[in-house]
Amino acid sequence: MNAIATSDCMTALDLDANATEALRPAAREALMAALDVGGNPSSIHGGGRAARRILEQARGRIATRFGVAPGDVVLTSGGTEANALAIHGLIPGRWVLVGATEHAAVRAAAPEAMVIPVRPDGTVDLDTLATLLSEGPPALVCLMAANNESGVLHPLAGVAALCRQHRAVLHVDAVQSAGRIGIETVGATSIAISAHKLGGVPGAGALILAPGLHLPPLIAGGGQERGRRGGTEPLPAIAAFGAAVAESYDIRRIAGLRDAIEAGLRRIAPDIVIAGATAPRLPNTSLAVLPGIPAETQVIALDLAGIRVSAGAACSSGKVAASHVLEAMGFGANAGCGIRISLPWNADDDAPERFLAAYAAMHARLSSRRATAST
Ligand code: PLP
Repeated sequence: MNAIATSDCMTALDLDANATEALRPAAREALMAALDVGGNPSSIHGGGRAARRILEQARGRIATRFGVAPGDVVLTSGGTEANALAIHGLIPGRWVLVGATEHAAVRAAAPEAMVIPVRPDGTVDLDTLATLLSEGPPALVCLMAANNESGVLHPLAGVAALCRQHRAVLHVDAVQSAGRIGIETVGATSIAISAHKLGGVPGAGALILAPGLHLPPLIAGGGQERGRRGGTEPLPAIAAFGAAVAESYDIRRIAGLRDAIEAGLRRIAPDIVIAGATAPRLPNTSLAVLPGIPAETQVIALDLAGIRVSAGAACSSGKVAASHVLEAMGFGANAGCGIRISLPWNADDDAPERFLAAYAAMHARLSSRRATAST
C-alpha cells in the first residue's frame, strides 16, 4: 500500500520514492527490535555485546548483497556522508572527473572537478571519458549508477573498463540503484548506498570499499568502524538497513506501472517529453517534461489533487530551480519543466489510473489557461 492518509482525510498517492523509499515491514520490525535491545555496540558488557551482534548482522547482510567481505563495509549516516568519505579519501594525488548529472552530494564533495558531459539520453559519453582520461594524470572518476531525477543508468561496465585501462579509480554513487536493480560492485573502488532509499530509515548508509582499502576518516572520534568513521553507531537505523537490503524488488511489476503512466502521459499531452526514455533506466522512475509549464506549478497542482511527485530538483529552501540534469541533457529553457514520478516498491496496481486522472485534469486546466492567455 502506498496510499497515505492526510490530515484533511484525503488519501494521498505517494509517487516520490526517489526522495525516500517506502519503509519495508522487515525494516520496521528490525528497528523496533533494536530499540528494545538498546545498548552501545562499543560497550564490552552484555548489553553492548548484544548491540554489537545486531550491528555486525546488518553489516554482514549488506556485504552479502554486494558480494564483499564485511570488513570492507563502512557504515555511515547516509548517502551524502558515504560519497564525501569516498571522495575526500580518494582525491589526494588525483584529478577528479564528475558526471554532469551527479547528485549535489557528489558535486559538493569535489567542487574543483572537471565535468564529464552526458549525451541527450542522459548516459555518459564513453568516447569523451576516454579522451579525458588519456589527457591527464591518474584520475578519480565519480559516476552514479542511476540518476535520481531521470532514472537513467550509466554504462558502468564500460566506464570501469576505461578506468582500469587508464589507471583511474572509480567511485560509484549507487544510492538510487541499490535495492532496485541488481546490486553489483562493477569493479568500482568504492560504492555509496543509503538506507532510506531502499526501504530502511534515514540515518544510516554505507561505503563499500575495494578489498582491504583503508580511507582516512572524515569524522575522527572514538575509533568506531575500525577507525574509518567516528561516532556511536545509530543501531536501530542500521538494523533496519540490514533488513531492508535483504528484501527483493519486483522489477517487472513496477516497470509495468511506470510504462502505463508514460503511455497515458503521452496520450494526454502529446508534446510531453520523457527524459532519457531511450536509455536503460530504473524501473520505477519517469522524468516527464511538459514544455512551458514550470515544474513547481505541476507539483503543487498534483499535490492539491493528493498526488505526491517532485520537481526534478528541489533545493533545501523548498524553492524549485531548473534541473541541472535536464540542462545537461540539453533541455534548455524547459529544464525547469520536469516532474519526477517515482513509484515505491509497494505501489498499488491502480497507481497509474489515479495519477493519470489527476494529471489529465491538471493538464486540461493549464491548457485552457494557456489558451486564454494567448487570446
Ligand atoms: N546520491 C543520490 C543519487 C541521491 O539521490 C541522494 C539523495 O537523494 C543522495 C546521494 C544523498 O543520500 P542521503 O539522503 O542518504 O544523504
